[in-house]
Amino acid sequence: LGGKIFYNKPANAINLDGKVANSVSFEDGSSVSADYIIPTVDTHVLFNKLIPSSYMPKELADAYKDENAYPTTSGFQVAYAVDVKFDLGETTFAEIEPLKIGERVFNRMYVKAYGYDDVFVKDDKMVIQTCISQTDVDYKYWKSLSKEEYDRVKQELTDEVTKRIEAAHPELAGEMELLDTWTPLTYERYCGAYHGGYMSFVTTPGAKQIRLKGKLDGIDNVYLAGQWTNSPGGLPVAVASGKFAIQRILKEEKRSIKI
Ligand SMILES: Cc1cc2nc3c(=O)[nH]c(=O)nc-3n(C[C@H](O)[C@H](O)[C@H](O)COP(=O)(O)OP(=O)(O)OC[C@H]3O[C@@H](n4cnc5c(N)ncnc54)[C@H](O)[C@@H]3O)c2cc1C
Repeated sequence: LGGKIFYNKPANAINLDGKVANSVSFEDGSSVSADYIIPTVDTHVLFNKLIPSSYMPKELADAYKDENAYPTTSGFQVAYAVDVKFDLGETTFAEIEPLKIGERVFNRMYVKAYGYDDVFVKDDKMVIQTCISQTDVDYKYWKSLSKEEYDRVKQELTDEVTKRIEAAHPELAGEMELLDTWTPLTYERYCGAYHGGYMSFVTTPGAKQIRLKGKLDGIDNVYLAGQWTNSPGGLPVAVASGKFAIQRILKEEKRSIKI
């Protein structure tokens, strides 16, 4: 089929003419016409920016209204470069001095060491990383901070996390080179992720699993893909949804759906 990927080119509208979406407009003022459009963005971006929210399927609209039944999950994450000679084990858990991150207090954390495969090792250094789970209330906490407060809190918590890793792994004291720290707002900024979620809605007892049918009522040629089409999302869901979108188009074109 061929194809061309444009980087750093955010879309700002899918343009509709009655029941047909005929083009995509971009923030740089350009636009591209299309026979079929497959948005793979977060559905929060899709229905709040690219097409009117009136096209949002009811099950999705209901989920956004009920955060308790449909929570999202994100992370406060810190990564360091360390010498690969430190044999930490792939993932190690530690009881820690309690630490409040976002709105909640944590007593345990883990460190994942990526030196388990040579492909991740460069100049005898590997990445070690921790991820402390964050949810909707924590996202709102981060969102409530001013830019200055956000930078300060992020730095203070990075220092606290570093101390706790050193307490759990004394051999790493003074040996960790900080690479980066990121929060739910980082996922929001880079990916447009709803509440910074890096998967879609968490499955909770009593809540319905989101299973979007792949097309939108009232638009003939937009085929949905991406992790938000099927909760709880994740990489396999995102990848499979892309295949399903192509198969739906093939079916529409009365061609074989074998791909
Ligand atoms: C730390 C971490 C650990 C994870 N672990 C796992 C795991 O173990 N197993 C698993 O299955 N999954 C895991 N995931 C989740 C997995 O990465 C996601 O499910 C997957 O990336 C979702 O793919 P997607 O294409 O639906 O969405 P995304 O990867 O979010 O892609 C959407 C893209 O749309 C772009 N975009 C947004 N707005 C616009 C716009 N207006 N115009 C143009 N482009 C736009 C974004 O920049 C982004 O690149 C993890 C994620 C993280 C962060």
